[in-house]
Amino acid sequence: MKNSVLFLMICFISFNLTAQKKKLTKNKKALIASVEKHKAALVKISDEIWKAAETAFEETTSAKILADYAEQQGFKVERGVAEMPTAFVATYGSGSPVISVLGEFDALPGISQKAQPTKSPLEEGGNGHGCGHNLFGAGSLGAAIAIKELIEAGKIKGTVKFFGTPSEEKFFGKIWMVNAGLWDDVDVNISWHPAAITESDVQSSLALVDFKVEFFGQAAHAAADPWNGRSASDALELYTAGINYYREHVKPTVRMHYHIQDGGQVVNVVPDYSRVWVRIRDSKRSGMLPVYERVMKMAEGAAILANVEYKVSLISGIYEVLVNREGGKIMQQNLELLGPIEYTEEEIAFGKKIQEATQKPQVGLDADIKPIKETRENPGGGSTDVGDVSWNVANINLRVTTAPKDTPWHSWAVVACGGMSIGHKGMIYSSKAMSMTMLDLFENPDLVKKVKAEYMQRKGEEVYKAIIPEGPPPIPNKSK
Ligand SMILES: [Zn+2]
Repeated sequence: MKNSVLFLMICFISFNLTAQKKKLTKNKKALIASVEKHKAALVKISDEIWKAAETAFEETTSAKILADYAEQQGFKVERGVAEMPTAFVATYGSGSPVISVLGEFDALPGISQKAQPTKSPLEEGGNGHGCGHNLFGAGSLGAAIAIKELIEAGKIKGTVKFFGTPSEEKFFGKIWMVNAGLWDDVDVNISWHPAAITESDVQSSLALVDFKVEFFGQAAHAAADPWNGRSASDALELYTAGINYYREHVKPTVRMHYHIQDGGQVVNVVPDYSRVWVRIRDSKRSGMLPVYERVMKMAEGAAILANVEYKVSLISGIYEVLVNREGGKIMQQNLELLGPIEYTEEEIAFGKKIQEATQKPQVGLDADIKPIKETRENPGGGSTDVGDVSWNVANINLRVTTAPKDTPWHSWAVVACGGMSIGHKGMIYSSKAMSMTMLDLFENPDLVKKVKAEYMQRKGEEVYKAIIPEGPPPIPNKSK
């Protein structure tokens, strides 16, 4: 009796293994092998970008490392696209379909950290990859290279593009790339982001607009002749008070933040200048725009009250992500094929130490593949310039575990994981999952059609218009 149960179990297990193996086609196996072949190089690239930790539009070394490797692999690389020295496009192949992948590589200021599970800066006050963009860029490049090798081997036909997209954290570089028409000939774009979970991402993000308000008054002695003064900081205070009163009357999906950048210098001078940086967000750009209009108008009101002059300057704004569930389903199937990332005892212990240091439950890492979620109408959370790409080409998103569960994002803990094997494993996984999803599109024109049809339907009548001021992108002037 026991023997027959054992026999049945063996049959069942081997049947399941065969069934899984069957699903992994020859071309998908080739992609996985290709990513494994480049693994050491991709980890090295990621670590170099992690160490360089360059912020918005300063990512000269990081962009060069990625672009050089793409070039060595036979991609045609166009550097400095859309008037941004650190933006580039690497292309391989010709004809349809054209499938692209995004690669970010910028760091954040002030969160430098060693690859260890307790807070300890690598360089006091230095930059750090607190959003895991070192992994983002290298992981996407790995996917593009794996596809390139299949095109090269004559297994598939078409074009693969890797977009090096700078300054996601500060100026939203992709807006200028979109505005330059760089995705006009692309059929489907793929993107991923490091995360504390692994999922085919079918949630949107928040649209936002950034602008600056300046007030110009008249300086005077704060005690001797204040009647001769017109205070720019009075205007600023009235302005922020207006925003704060307005909070009660906006929809729950709206977020309004401001950062006072200049409120006067000393206490004994009536300030003649003040400046505040304002950010408005909503789950839809269409909901954000009227709030933006109203908050801009408040600057005039504040200026009248304080009898000063004012100026409003648009910095930039981004769209919410246009979800693509058809694409998400393809990604989901590939995640299920790959299965979850497996971790060593040391990696789990590393994760738990981070959770201890950040006062989170010590549950370790979560890389399980869960069923695809429903798309929420109001997703909450942050914003990304992938949104602008997604309004110009059908876009598929992925999130892969590169940090322990509940890790505070944009923090030292993310930097720590991005410089060691937890981050590397997520990055290599992303290369495999994205290249497999790209392959499905190369091999099945009907899937491309379906994904594009959903994009057209979700976009509807809305005409995309980049939310940027006139003129070139805001590249910092180093001579200043
Ligand atoms: Zn990010």
